Amino acid sequence: MRTRFSTLSLPGLCALALAGCSAGPAPQSAPAPATAAARPAQQARPEDTEFYTPVPPIVTPGTNGSAPSDAVVLFNGSDLGEWVLMKDKSPATWPVADGVMTVNKAVGGIETKRQFTDYQLHIEWRIPEGITGTGQARGNSGVFLASTGNGDAGYELQVLDSYENKTYTNGQAGSIYKQSPPLANAMRKPGEWQVYDVIWTAPRFNADGSLKTPAYVTALHNGVLVQNHFALRGPTQYIGQPHYTPHGPAPIKLQSHGDPSPPISFRNIWIRTLN
Ligand code: MG
Repeated sequence: MRTRFSTLSLPGLCALALAGCSAGPAPQSAPAPATAAARPAQQARPEDTEFYTPVPPIVTPGTNGSAPSDAVVLFNGSDLGEWVLMKDKSPATWPVADGVMTVNKAVGGIETKRQFTDYQLHIEWRIPEGITGTGQARGNSGVFLASTGNGDAGYELQVLDSYENKTYTNGQAGSIYKQSPPLANAMRKPGEWQVYDVIWTAPRFNADGSLKTPAYVTALHNGVLVQNHFALRGPTQYIGQPHYTPHGPAPIKLQSHGDPSPPISFRNIWIRTLN
């Protein structure tokens, strides 16, 4: 009996596979089978639509969220060698203990030394047990998928305690800040670890600086899809409408938010570049 596979949309396939496909600048394409000559339909053979190159690279997967064999580990629990302080690019001085880094609000945000374009990112974060505050002032941080300058410049995937904590929906955990609310609230209780898995496709710009293709993001929060190939309208902004300004590869930034609630922690951060 012949097997027939249903057709999945590209965004859906991206979300399911967490692979390097994108509908933007670097689409995944399949070569035409060499044997697919113009043959009358009634004479078509199974091998007409089968091909053997390119051969996908072998990647040994991790276990329980650990890094696959081709990932760059950005934080393995022991040091911040991949990170610098955003404000002056000096060595990052967030405290590291017990395999975890914790926001140091006195020194501000940190960002990667490396710059990225398209990638798959895994990052785990934890709101401290006994967190205080309400709304946006309760465990606020953020993963800036591309940092385009100091402060909050860039594209923020919000980090917040959204476990029974009301705020504007496009500002809760899993939102693209003030652009796209999460498709679900998959938040675990304070004190438990949260996981983000993100597929980021950077925006592309024409030579004259105009936008060629927007940034796209697919994100899962604790394994639940929260952003499905969302096309960003520009960098995220606290006040005003977003708009694009041309930029190239950029660091990833972790936000140090000014609210007085206790600082949150991160662990197990790795990335697979897709371009
Ligand atoms: Mg934030």
